[in-house]
Amino acid sequence: MAHKIEWTEQTWNPSAGCSKISSGCKNCYAEAMALRLQAMNTEGYENGFKFNTVPSRLNDPLKRKKPTVYFVNSMSDIFHEDMPHEYLDKILGVIRNTPQHTYQILTKRADRMYNYLSKKDIPKNIWLGVTVENVKDGLPRIEKLRNLNATVLFLSVEPLLEDLGEINLTNIDWVIVGGESGNRARPMDEKWVLNIKQQCEINDIAFFFKQWGAWGADKVKRNKKENGKSLNGKIWQQYPEIIEQQYILV
Ligand code: SF4
Repeated sequence: MAHKIEWTEQTWNPSAGCSKISSGCKNCYAEAMALRLQAMNTEGYENGFKFNTVPSRLNDPLKRKKPTVYFVNSMSDIFHEDMPHEYLDKILGVIRNTPQHTYQILTKRADRMYNYLSKKDIPKNIWLGVTVENVKDGLPRIEKLRNLNATVLFLSVEPLLEDLGEINLTNIDWVIVGGESGNRARPMDEKWVLNIKQQCEINDIAFFFKQWGAWGADKVKRNKKENGKSLNGKIWQQYPEIIEQQYILV
């Protein structure tokens, strides 16, 4: 059944907490949020940002009939080294048993993702993505992602920290680009973004520019709402064809 989406609709956090693995993690919003949730005695954050599973949330999607796009683990990384293999199987089981929902899974641990999922029949309702914040850590993740057989393979180029140069976009369906938010945000150069957009156009890949973040195209730091979402005076929010066919896009 078609329904409306923008980028995502709900988050589902069957695990909580994480640890930093690359430059993109430097100003991790989940870490700051976890410490606030710990102070509020929220379940799953008893140890602050330390990784742990949260079994009480595992079955949440089973209780929801309305088709929903879930972003999985906004407060963690599903392929974190401390995530038990058996618990990953349980998460996959919930995804299989809720074909009415769509699950966006994004990771910086592409090796573990590949080792786990390449031996599985990946459910059709999973969109699989990796973060690509820079050349050194980000580009090798794409090599793992492109060899997995999921309905949608996407790159989350956020926060974009440098020029990525030439990117091999073979098998990639969707590229989402954004700048960093927050007080300590690092600036993003418009040329870096345009380089990616151009490569998407050449390869006929959907390009979605999410936001500038804390720094504007003019390299001035200000409120992220003021910096907005336009690139060269236009909004670029494309989706892969398969998503356009299934959803009413807003
Ligand atoms: S992988 Fe994601 S959740 Fe984990 S520390 Fe890095 S940015 Fe934060």
